[in-house]
Amino acid sequence: MDEDSFDPKQWVSGCGQHSAPPVQKPESDEGMGAFWREVAEPQHTAANAAPADTAHKSVAPRPSQDRRLTFAIAGSVLILAVGATASWLTRGDPALAPLASPSAAIPASSNAQERAINLAGPGQLAGALIEAGVRADDASAAAAAAAPHLASGGEIHAIIVLLPGEGGALLQQLRAVHINGSGVVLARTADGTFSVTPLAADVSRKIEVLRGEIDSESFYTSAVSAGLIDTLIPEFINAFSYDFNLASEVSPGDVFEVAYDQEVNADGDAVGQPKLLYAQLTTPKKSLALYRFQPPGEDAGWFDGNGATTKRGLMRTPVDGARITSKFGMRFHPVLHYNKLHGGTDFAAPTGTPIYAAADGTIEFAAMKGANGNLTVLLHDNGWRTLYLHQNVFAPGIAAGVRVSQGQRIGDVGTTGRSTGPHLHYEVHIDGERVDPLSIPVDEASRKRMEGATLQAFLKERDRIDMARSQRTF
Ligand SMILES: [Zn+2]
Repeated sequence: MDEDSFDPKQWVSGCGQHSAPPVQKPESDEGMGAFWREVAEPQHTAANAAPADTAHKSVAPRPSQDRRLTFAIAGSVLILAVGATASWLTRGDPALAPLASPSAAIPASSNAQERAINLAGPGQLAGALIEAGVRADDASAAAAAAAPHLASGGEIHAIIVLLPGEGGALLQQLRAVHINGSGVVLARTADGTFSVTPLAADVSRKIEVLRGEIDSESFYTSAVSAGLIDTLIPEFINAFSYDFNLASEVSPGDVFEVAYDQEVNADGDAVGQPKLLYAQLTTPKKSLALYRFQPPGEDAGWFDGNGATTKRGLMRTPVDGARITSKFGMRFHPVLHYNKLHGGTDFAAPTGTPIYAAADGTIEFAAMKGANGNLTVLLHDNGWRTLYLHQNVFAPGIAAGVRVSQGQRIGDVGTTGRSTGPHLHYEVHIDGERVDPLSIPVDEASRKRMEGATLQAFLKERDRIDMARSQRTF
């Protein structure tokens, strides 16, 4: 919703919680000292600031996430019937006798039993073996032998072969692996001890490439239907935070492409978190392709194909996935009958959405301040200030005097102070005057380009990503 749909009646209702008229004429002679005077911005209504943003609605995870979700066995031990899990566990590994053909130590006529168990970690192994019927002393010995090879942490899938006996079963074989394939195989030997065969991790990295079209709902829903893992979506939005406002400058039919790095096991199952490498967005007006790269000694950032950083001046959108619900500009007050300034830009987003420092600077003020709610004032190196109003909470460590860097999370979207729905009211002050954040020209001259060996390393990474993209047909 922009100012065209601004409804004066909603403006009045937005003021309802405050007895005093909130209006202040922007041309008042309060001087620069009043740079963070209470900002009258009563037009936030439940209607235009409601957290209806589709960019944050939950969706069903895609299949690869399903696998990861079912893998999670938080702190519990499950004894499963041997089925699909067993085939997963016995797959590959030609050096090992398949569990289906018991080792020589197990008599052919035995009534050996095979079971699958899932563990949250190696500390649960002995208990799980006892629960499965293994004699306590045998369970302890097996767990002790296996533990050094399961130390890399994370969940464990195990297949055990038991031979029932007096006083409990004896363990004949154990194969225990993490999702990355690392683990151990224990096998009962003739002298009653276990042979121990460590298993090395078996993972590879691959670059996944996806392309999609913006649908009529939001970038978020478009990205999810294209198959993008939802945790990568904020990173994609961040990549374009200097160049695009994804809420206002993107329309249905616009095209995006992403490439991300994913570690996979021998079955192709995702291991660990994916990492976004490439983000491209094409609209009728502009097209931009960005590569993620970490220059030595610096934080990772986004660069164009020539190695120029996206960073310059102020970030255009200091909050993730937000809709602009009210722009900077004059408003006619329906009761007091004069124009007043809406001195900032309103971004509607659900409570808890991260707010980022628009540029490097020093926190000048971070506290509750009347109608502003929780307010952060950031003083930038060029003397400009940016203000962030109505925050739900400040990020840990954010306090007056603290230095922050561009893109650092300084707080969360909220609805504190005079506000009837969660949103960020964002202001930019230049020489003490409030200016339209969206009108500040992008300073191309301030963009830095990598040089020398760093640039060469970047170009190599760019080519690696482009090679993967060229191998993907859409
Ligand atoms: Zn506002």
